[in-house]
Amino acid sequence: MTSILNKETEHELFFHNYARLPLAITHGKGVYLFDENSNRYLDMISGIGVNALGYGDERLIEAIHDQAKKIIHASNLFMLEPQFKLASKLLDISGLSKVFFANSGTEAIEAAMKLSRKWASLSGSTGKKEILSLSNCFHGRTYGAMSLTAKPKYLEGFDPLLPGTGSIAFNDIEDLKRKITSNTAAVFIEFVQGEGGIHQISREFVEELKKLRETHNFLIVADEIQAGCGRTGKFFSYMHFDIDPDLVCVAKPLGGGLPLGAVIGSRKVQDVFAAGNHGTTFGGNPVACAAGHALIETLYSKKIMEHALATGSWIKAALTKLAETHTQIQEIRQYGLMIGITVNRDAAYYVQESLKRRVLVNATSQNVIRLLPPLTITVEEAQQCIDCLDEIFSEEQ
Ligand SMILES: *Cc1c(COP(=O)(O)O)cnc(C)c1O
Repeated sequence: MTSILNKETEHELFFHNYARLPLAITHGKGVYLFDENSNRYLDMISGIGVNALGYGDERLIEAIHDQAKKIIHASNLFMLEPQFKLASKLLDISGLSKVFFANSGTEAIEAAMKLSRKWASLSGSTGKKEILSLSNCFHGRTYGAMSLTAKPKYLEGFDPLLPGTGSIAFNDIEDLKRKITSNTAAVFIEFVQGEGGIHQISREFVEELKKLRETHNFLIVADEIQAGCGRTGKFFSYMHFDIDPDLVCVAKPLGGGLPLGAVIGSRKVQDVFAAGNHGTTFGGNPVACAAGHALIETLYSKKIMEHALATGSWIKAALTKLAETHTQIQEIRQYGLMIGITVNRDAAYYVQESLKRRVLVNATSQNVIRLLPPLTITVEEAQQCIDCLDEIFSEEQ
């Protein structure tokens, strides 16, 4: 079959900001993707942590179909039932107070940054402007979110960044104490860093952060864009800790594969935004919200988070066994179905080798193989990924 989907045409058509795999995907089923020649690939990436239910979930498709027949877009000039239903679900789950819908992760972060500054300005302290994040973090690609992001590769050539942003060394309690002052408006945190290579924040760091919030009165913002919506076995990854964040950002899986983001806020910030302070044309699209509602109902009714916990532990055990014989594996970090394997060479090699064996894995932080399979993956399906890695590691030696 001749196809226009090749690297040459890609190069002609698009800006060169993506390093796409030379693979043209036509459709998916369950945890598998298919190419133009009907070859089947095990998907351990899920569209970068988006497709929590895999491909072809009946209830999700029906929700999208039913809502699309009613109305696809109306704007936030009107009240839309799917938004109301999804917002109340998010508030039930989080115990928080208010929701704002955006279209993406980075937009959720922008909204949370604006809200943080506005909240701080209302507190009456004129110097309270500073927004901090952690080293090795990732919060998005727009200017505000990018200014919070630590990776030099993502920043080079784009300065000047947003003023009043700063960084705290990851899990470094002394640095945390040094950086937080009465000028701190907010601290943005991924409780499990995704792009940074799957690293969890320490309990001690969280405890110190809570203490400092008591003294300095700032907002703790949980970036749950990658780790949220059940990925770590609880709905939000901060729920593995004893903490009440003031703001929570979600996106990636939230719209069941459609573009949707949200900021959820506590009572402390519930009245910060007034009419006209912030907004978006598409945010809270009714089809995306209907999909999000179906996603959440399915996560709970089919006990998918429990399943993700159990399957994640199984994968960890299987990888630990591989590590006994394959010295290329340096460390395995696993939180539900958010899994990072540190290897002793460029992880891109394993992405290419896995692709040859029709298993799709992803590399992040140079030497980390990242696994973000659909939360529905079974042990039998995950075995294929283990066998694939086993084979690659063996052939290398
Ligand atoms: C992906 C991601 C973002 C940005 O989301 P986009 O939808 O790509 O803008 C922000 N934070 C985290 C933790 C992410 O993983």
